[in-house]
Amino acid sequence: MRYCKCMVIGIFSFMLLLTSCKGIQSDLYEEMTKIDAHVHIRTEKPDIMEFAAAEGFKFLTINTRANSQAYIDEQMHFARAIKEQYPDRISYITTFSMENFEDSSWATEVIRVLQKDFEEGAIGVKVWKDIGMTFRDSLNNFILIDDPRFDPIFDFIANNKKTVIAHIGEPKNCWLPLDSMTVNNDKLYFSEHPQYHMYLHPEYPSYEQLVASRDNLLARHPDLKLVGAHLGSLEWSVDELAMRLDQFPNLAVDMAARVCHFQVQDREKVRKFIIMYQDRLLYATDLVLSEKDDFEERKTWLEREWRSDWSYFATGDSLQSPYVNGSFRGLKLDKDILRKIYYTNAVTWYPELFN
Ligand SMILES: [Zn+2]
Repeated sequence: MRYCKCMVIGIFSFMLLLTSCKGIQSDLYEEMTKIDAHVHIRTEKPDIMEFAAAEGFKFLTINTRANSQAYIDEQMHFARAIKEQYPDRISYITTFSMENFEDSSWATEVIRVLQKDFEEGAIGVKVWKDIGMTFRDSLNNFILIDDPRFDPIFDFIANNKKTVIAHIGEPKNCWLPLDSMTVNNDKLYFSEHPQYHMYLHPEYPSYEQLVASRDNLLARHPDLKLVGAHLGSLEWSVDELAMRLDQFPNLAVDMAARVCHFQVQDREKVRKFIIMYQDRLLYATDLVLSEKDDFEERKTWLEREWRSDWSYFATGDSLQSPYVNGSFRGLKLDKDILRKIYYTNAVTWYPELFN
């Protein structure tokens, strides 16, 4: 699984120029310090940090993908370098390698590396969808995140009071035929990448199995703080998400690349959901910026995402998005709630943020 929603959204960036930004409540946008709690910055060039500062944003950048320690080290290089330059504007999350998973010393070695990462400043650990959808054991079974061989690692993370960010599974659309998908970016992506369209690959774990594996992890580690990336892969239903938030007090979710899934659900229901769970939701975009990317293109994309998402949460305007057919109305959330989803919740769920 190499699919990252950010790439899809990039395709739409030119269309975002069409997105309405009227009535952005720009005074409040400009006055409020905000956190984009899920980005992937793989450059040490200062441009993105300067742009974010001008927009009033700080970042949590996330190292991801568990196929090799060498790739993790490469990402860590950028994370440490940018943290050193902007200690109070960015923090970073590490991850661990699945290399030699079946060796008896695997967990001990992972813990040794995580200990070092924590000492050097990582504030949490990412687990990605390659656990559940890519890695298989020697019997050719998929390795799921509730596999007991992960237990010593999650115990170690919880004992060190660090947070796990878990991207397990995919949007439910991935298991649906193209014409049943709810948002345009999923339709486009899966039509172009049939190899990742799980509807066509019943031999892979089902959506329900993957969500259940994450739920089992939460149940087995009640002391582990876990942020479910991308609305915890329950983006399609605020009712389903509410059930998990009720069931697992150790769970919060980020909205990275999934705000459009709120926009296709019933407005009043979504508004009530956000008010009810106002302490458990973290704003994020899933920006990816690497050395080889065109910075101006990424900046334009990010600015549009930040401003159109703000219009959705802060105003009651009629809005449009390239990801969604038709128009929808903004949620006009109170300032106190905006402050929580844009700042306080990230600091609560990642307690060492910007230390
Ligand atoms: Zn991401």
